[in-house]
Amino acid sequence: MEKINLTINGQEIEATKGMTVLEAAQSADVYIPTLCHYPDLEPYGGCRLCIVEIENMRGLLTACTTPATEGMHVTTESPAINEVRRMTLELMLSTHPCDCLECHRRERCGPYDVCLRHVAVTDRCVVCPSNGTCELQKVVDYMVVRELRVSKDTKSVPVDISNPFFDIDRNRCILCARCVRACQEITGVGAIDMAYRGYAMKVATFGDTPLMDSICRSCGECMVRCPVGALTPKETFHPEREVKTICPYCGVGCQMYLGVKNEQVVCIRGDEEGPANHGRLCVKGRFGIAEFVNHPERLTTPLVRKNGQLEEASWEEALAAVAGKLGNYKGDEVAVISSAKSTNEDNYVMQKFVRAVLGTNNIDHCARL
Ligand code: SF4
Ligand code: SF4
Ligand code: SF4
Ligand code: SF4
Repeated sequence: MEKINLTINGQEIEATKGMTVLEAAQSADVYIPTLCHYPDLEPYGGCRLCIVEIENMRGLLTACTTPATEGMHVTTESPAINEVRRMTLELMLSTHPCDCLECHRRERCGPYDVCLRHVAVTDRCVVCPSNGTCELQKVVDYMVVRELRVSKDTKSVPVDISNPFFDIDRNRCILCARCVRACQEITGVGAIDMAYRGYAMKVATFGDTPLMDSICRSCGECMVRCPVGALTPKETFHPEREVKTICPYCGVGCQMYLGVKNEQVVCIRGDEEGPANHGRLCVKGRFGIAEFVNHPERLTTPLVRKNGQLEEASWEEALAAVAGKLGNYKGDEVAVISSAKSTNEDNYVMQKFVRAVLGTNNIDHCARL
């Protein structure tokens, strides 16, 4: 790929032709705050936090929408940039229901401390599912905002809990439109959009219905891209370890990580390195695995019917029982159903066994088994 050279904050860097200024900076580990940019979404320029100065170009430009070019001189920090960036952030915070963010005591407060600013605080970061992973917190910390020059004007609208897997709390939404763009660009569904204008603007479905009454497919691609605690899973877990695997549901073969805690699958994320899915998952892969894997009635050992009752058995015993009974039949007297939840290799061996050993073409599989 063709390379270009540019200067960011006086540092010469090499970038790939076609990168934006933001991508070029990120490739050189130069931090530029942003809340609407997401690597696999089209440049948007919505949050206006990534503004930079570029020599011989007028005004402050959004780094996420400006192509990097050969010989460019970029400045990411200056009094003028910081003033505009700070005001943009303060306006965003003025509608965000979390006084913790700009509180001077923030670093010293634990989850259950009594808040000295309010007697009964229910909208602190410590009660938000995104606490600790929230990108807004990171930007506020970077900008060291500890007081607002504009007055607070937060909303109090009901949380949409209609979806069985995740909630939309519009009170915490910063209108970055990542969810809308993910639904449009990644899934091609277009279940949500930015509706209304001005202060009334919000993420909404067609007709402003609850999400479950829309064409939403519950894939959660919007949820994983939300930078704050506005789109969050019904339950949030912090896994002890992750196990890389392939989704067992269909032949696409999406690669994923199972988050494991106390030997239970508690969450799932797509693997960005997965050649078939690049981190994306559908509703089955993202939300449909933990329940059956953790189910107390899940079979974890073969069962052999003895005197009309199914009893636990070893694999040797079970295989001997099947082999013994198969010997009583031949050819088309036998049919075998395999499963798409098995690996390609296992299914290949099964059809080979049925055709070559049992002597029949009665072999099928079902994606739902
Ligand atoms: S979205 Fe972020 S800033 Fe807002 S309450 Fe949650 S953790 Fe705090
Ligand atoms: S869950 Fe999927 S289909 Fe539904 S709104 Fe989000 S991205 Fe769109
Ligand atoms: S719900 Fe999340 S991703 Fe969607 S616009 Fe609001 S903050 Fe952005
Ligand atoms: S995540 Fe969905 S598309 Fe991907 S393999 Fe699983 S079922 Fe198929």
